[in-house]
Amino acid sequence: MHPVDVDRQTEVSAAVPGSGRVVDEAVLRDLRRTFRGELLRPGDPGYDASRRVWNATVDRCPALIARCTGTVDVLTALRFSRREGLAVSVRGGGHSVGGHAVLDGGVMIDLSPMKGIRVDPEARRAWVQPGCLWSEVDRETQQFGLATTGGMVSHTGVSGLTLGGGQGWLARKHGYSCDNLVAADVVTADGEFVVADADRNPDLFWGIRGGGGNFGIVTSFQLRLHEVGPLVLRGQLFYAPEEALRALEGFREFAAGAPDEMTCTASVWTAGEEAHLPERAHGRPVVMLGYVFVGDVEVGERVAAPLRQIAKPLTELAGPVPYTVLQAQDDESQRHGLRRFWKSQYLWDLPDAALETFLGRGAVSPGEPSLGGVRLLSLGGAIARVGEDDTAMSHRNAAFDVMVSSTWTDPTEADRHMGWARRFHGTMAPFSRGVYINNLGSEGEERVRAAYGQTKYERLVALKHRYDPDNVFRHNQNIRPSSTRLPG
Ligand code: FAD
Repeated sequence: MHPVDVDRQTEVSAAVPGSGRVVDEAVLRDLRRTFRGELLRPGDPGYDASRRVWNATVDRCPALIARCTGTVDVLTALRFSRREGLAVSVRGGGHSVGGHAVLDGGVMIDLSPMKGIRVDPEARRAWVQPGCLWSEVDRETQQFGLATTGGMVSHTGVSGLTLGGGQGWLARKHGYSCDNLVAADVVTADGEFVVADADRNPDLFWGIRGGGGNFGIVTSFQLRLHEVGPLVLRGQLFYAPEEALRALEGFREFAAGAPDEMTCTASVWTAGEEAHLPERAHGRPVVMLGYVFVGDVEVGERVAAPLRQIAKPLTELAGPVPYTVLQAQDDESQRHGLRRFWKSQYLWDLPDAALETFLGRGAVSPGEPSLGGVRLLSLGGAIARVGEDDTAMSHRNAAFDVMVSSTWTDPTEADRHMGWARRFHGTMAPFSRGVYINNLGSEGEERVRAAYGQTKYERLVALKHRYDPDNVFRHNQNIRPSSTRLPG
C-alpha cells in the first residue's frame, strides 16, 4: 500500500500581513530587557527580509520574529512564547520546501544570527551554531583538509538538514550528517537546557538524529570531521534519447558495484539552450549520468572509466574540483526567491519497468524545458552500515532516492508545475517504499509515518510525548505526541 498523496502545497500559502495575534509594546517591554538580539514586528525594518524563506510560494507573517544571538535568547524567546500562549516556529537555514521555519501570527524563533563555528583539527570535531549554512562550515573545516557530510547545495542550513538526516556527497563514505553528530545542546519544550549525546539523554540523542525539530531547539551541534579533498573528482555524461535507456541500464549496474567514495546520480529533463550541450540536443529530452568520487582523484578516474564505455554520450564534463566548488555547484540553479515544488521517495531496487518510467519524464514534455527534472541519487555504503534502530533516521537500506522538482516564477503557472510533478511521482510510486523526511513538503501525517515506518514512528511518538507533550514544536514534519493538548 502506498500512502495516499495528500500534499497540501498550494500557490501562495499566505496570510494577510498583520493578521493573527499582535504582540503589543507593553508585552514586548519585558522581553526587550532580557533578549539580546533583534525583535521584529510587522512593519519594522528587516521584518520582511527575515520572514522570507527559500521557497517563494511561502509567504507567512509572524506576529514577532526573535532573532537569537545565543542559547539564552532561545530560552528567553521560547519561555516568552509559552507564557503568552503564542505558537512558535524555528528557523535554521529556512530551506524546508514546505516553509516550516515560518508561521502566521506566532513567534518565529530565528536562529540565523547564530553563526559561530569552532574546529578542533586534532580531535576532528566542529562545534557549529544552528544559524550556519553548509558553505560556512565547509569553509572552516576545509582550512584543515577536513569536512563532514553536508547538503549538496551550500546555502542550505546545517540545522534542519542534520536533524532530519542529511544526504550529501560524503554520505556513502562517512554516513549521513546525523551519523556524524556527536553531541548537541538542546532547549526543550519546557524551556530547559540539556545536552544530548551517547551518555546524556541518549533517548533524545536518538530522536534528534533523523526526527527533525520535534524534540527541542538545538543550539549547538558537535560534528565528527573526516579528511576530505581538497580536490575531489566530478563527472557528468549527457545522452540523447536514443542512448538513454542503455545509459540508465549501465548506471544501474555501475552504481550497484561502486565503492563507498563514489556517489552516482541520473537525471532526465528537457534541454534548454545549455551551452555545454550541442544544438541538436536543445528542446529534446536529455539524460545525465553524474558521479562524484571523494577519495584519491587518480583512483576515482580508474573507477569511473567503465561508466564511460556504456553508451555514446553527446558530451562529457569531468575533472577534479575543490570540494568547496563541488558543494556550491548547484547554488545558482537552486537560488532563493523562486517558486518551488518537489516530491521524493525511496527506491529499493531498479527493475526495468522503473527505469522506463523514470525515463518517461522525457516523454512527458518534450519541447518544454521550463518544466523541471527528475533525478536518482545512489545511497548505500556507510549509510546502510548504521543499524535501522540506532537512530531515528530510517530506511537505511534503500538503494536510491528519486526526486521530481519543479521551479517557476509566475504564480498563475503553479498548477501546471505542481501537476506534472505529482503525476510523475505517482508513476514512480509502485516501485517505491518510504520517503526521506527532509524531502517532504506539506504532505500530511501519512507521509511523515512513511518516512519512518510504523514501528519507528510509534517509538518517536512516545519520545515526543516525553519531551514535548503539548506539541509546542509542531511547525515541522510533525510527530504528534500520544495525547496532544494543543490543536495540531
Ligand atoms: P529550516 O526550514 O530552517 O528548518 C527545517 C525544519 O527544521 C523546520 O521545521 C525547523 O523548525 C527545524 N529546525 C531548524 N533548525 C532547528 C534547530 N536548530 N532546532 C530544532 N529545529 C530546527 N537535504 C539533504 O539531506 N541533502 C541535500 O543535499 C539537500 N539539498 C537541498 C537543497 C536545497 C536547495 C533545499 C531547499 C533543500 C535541500 N535539502 C537537502 C533538504 C534540507 O535538508 C531541508 O530542507 C532542511 O529542512 C533544511 O534545513 P534548514 O535549516 O535550511 O531549514
